[in-house]
Amino acid sequence: MSQKRTEEITCPKCGAKGPFTVWDSVNVEDSPSLRGQLMDESIFVWTCPDCGHTVYVTFSTLYHDSTNQFLLFFDHKTGDKDIEDSPFPDGEAFEQFNKTYRLRFVHGINNLKEKIFIFEEGLNDIVIELLKYFIRNGIIAIQQGDGEEKGQPIPGNYFIGRAIYFTQMSADGEQLIFSIARPRGGVESHFALSMDLYSQCLQKLALDKRFKEDRNSIKNVCYEWVEAHLKTPV
Ligand SMILES: [Zn+2]
Repeated sequence: MSQKRTEEITCPKCGAKGPFTVWDSVNVEDSPSLRGQLMDESIFVWTCPDCGHTVYVTFSTLYHDSTNQFLLFFDHKTGDKDIEDSPFPDGEAFEQFNKTYRLRFVHGINNLKEKIFIFEEGLNDIVIELLKYFIRNGIIAIQQGDGEEKGQPIPGNYFIGRAIYFTQMSADGEQLIFSIARPRGGVESHFALSMDLYSQCLQKLALDKRFKEDRNSIKNVCYEWVEAHLKTPV
């Protein structure tokens, strides 16, 4: 079940007060509309009842998708680079989840959206992070997606200060589409990787002892997490 509480917000512009709904947990089966509100971030927007001024209110939430079997512990702060895995939580609230669930810590709204896209497509987020790591470090060369630049390889240093996010599968299901975010936000361009490359990476991952999946833990699978595991001696 989705859980919510009401907080009172004071308008920074006119001083009027009004209620704001904070969702402590979001269950997409119970409340499908909340998924869309998270994706367009309207769930975080409070509108002043008096003057119409809008305020972006951040809160942490637990995102639960039982169809696709994943649970995301979401925190708005992007700076948290803690990559230690935590044990599967005890307690009644978690008894319903069997150990096939993927449990993740997610920091930052764009990373939350990406995790949702990845798991809804049935993809492995460790493989996605590995592919992004290889691109950033020039191990996989990608090409500009569109316009006059099409076909030109993108140098690795291009990605300094830019973020890469998995966005969606192509309509034919043969390509993974990624977006490149500008340093100040907004999408700069897109590029695609083949499903073959993804599958090869997935096969290698299954044999790689450094990434042996411990299902009984919550992980913060991000660039730093992947880098730390790659640097673990085999
Ligand atoms: Zn106001």
